[in-house]
Amino acid sequence: MRKTKEIYKCEICGVYYEKFVYGRNRSKADNKSAWWGDNVMLCPDCYLEQKEAEEKAKYAGLPALEESAE
Ligand SMILES: [Zn+2]
Repeated sequence: MRKTKEIYKCEICGVYYEKFVYGRNRSKADNKSAWWGDNVMLCPDCYLEQKEAEEKAKYAGLPALEESAE
């Protein structure tokens, strides 16, 4: 199986991060969505932060932030 290194840019902090993609028949788009579960491309740090924020919001009985307020 072939391993490909790809560079992505975080949508929140703008940092570039690397991710290894294993060569398969699936498209890159498929791999991306499988990796993060949605269309947002975040670096691992921001991804975890967002996850935590969502969890906190859930436990607090508040709706998760869908769009950041100004
Ligand atoms: Zn980030």
